[in-house]
Amino acid sequence: MAALRTALHARLVQAFPFSVGSLRFASSFKAADLNIERNTTCKPKPDPSSLVFGKQFSDHMLTINWSEKSGWEAPQIKPFQNLSLHPASSALHYSIELFEGMKAFRGVDNHVRLFRPMLNMERMHRSADRCCLPLFDKAELLECIRKLVEVDQDWVPFSQDASLYIRPTFIGTEPSLGVSRAGKAMIFVIIGPVGPYFTTGSFSPVSLLADPAYVRAWQGGVGAYKMGGNYGPTIMVQNEAVKRGCQQVLWLYGEQEEITEVGTMNLFIYWTNEKGERELVTPPLDGIILPGVTRQSLLDLARSWGDFKVTERTMGMKELLRALDDGRILEVFGAGTACVVCPVGSLLYKGKVHQIPTMQNGPDLAKRFYKELTDIQYGRQPSDWTTLVV
Ligand SMILES: *Cc1c(COP(=O)(O)O)cnc(C)c1O
Repeated sequence: MAALRTALHARLVQAFPFSVGSLRFASSFKAADLNIERNTTCKPKPDPSSLVFGKQFSDHMLTINWSEKSGWEAPQIKPFQNLSLHPASSALHYSIELFEGMKAFRGVDNHVRLFRPMLNMERMHRSADRCCLPLFDKAELLECIRKLVEVDQDWVPFSQDASLYIRPTFIGTEPSLGVSRAGKAMIFVIIGPVGPYFTTGSFSPVSLLADPAYVRAWQGGVGAYKMGGNYGPTIMVQNEAVKRGCQQVLWLYGEQEEITEVGTMNLFIYWTNEKGERELVTPPLDGIILPGVTRQSLLDLARSWGDFKVTERTMGMKELLRALDDGRILEVFGAGTACVVCPVGSLLYKGKVHQIPTMQNGPDLAKRFYKELTDIQYGRQPSDWTTLVV
């Protein structure tokens, strides 16, 4: 009971900036308080054509510490360096960890832009709440990230095929093995250049393993949050897909074998429905789907075009296979920050390979989405979906 009261109290003081006793708790750090320590030994920038995802990092990082006792500390931008953590830190034992994935793009006009970054901040805030990590002001975090990218702006590739990947991370650093809410925590953000997802410049379709024996997320679970604990256990399934000659996993769920996501991408099906209408279908945000920024953007674009029906609904394997047999499937693709859109070429399901006619029909819709989104990201098309960094 006392523990519950303490937890409740802590939650209240982190949500509201008022004085409690003699201690003053801050509800959020402020970008205006940023301390910047510049790196004096900057690394050479890699050639954009040689980039491997997630292996190269810039010269600086952002860290922001929090404790139950003193609230948020001033944010710091400092030389990229190792973290020093207590070995009992709760992130390491109980996966009190969440992350984001977003990008900065160097445009045709040499300005650097972020793409709908507030959607990432909102998602991060929801994940923090679900992890019982302290809340923060989303606009303040975005401004700290903008400043980090500004400091490392030369790391944003001078290429319209590459970008700067941004990895905000939030960990529990409570130095205790008790399974309880973290009394210490840290936000850190690391950034690094990434190359094109499709190296040849043309879409190459991926093959998927659809095996109902494996489940990524479930009702009542945390699949809708970008928490590290959701991803580690998928690696073995991804390896299984490769062993069976596939490139990625199509995640199925429940009795109806609902098709949910592709690897770490949201899933889209463009087809002719039973009524003979052209329709774009993606699973609804019912708790097992990660609410992707790219997913939202494709839905927004498609609805603004008004060229075909746009529906968020579940589709089972049975219905997909029937439509494939009928020749009603036009395109299947994944959508995410890494690739924008990624066409699906085939499904391996219960020992049988099902070809998706995506490429035969020409991945016209996937290409249209790709062009529209990258035109906005690289400043070829003005849009209020971008936030200027510099
Ligand atoms: C990150 C992620 C996505 C895509 O989200 P974006 O915001 O579009 O990058 C989709 N599914 C899963 C499981 C993810 O982790």
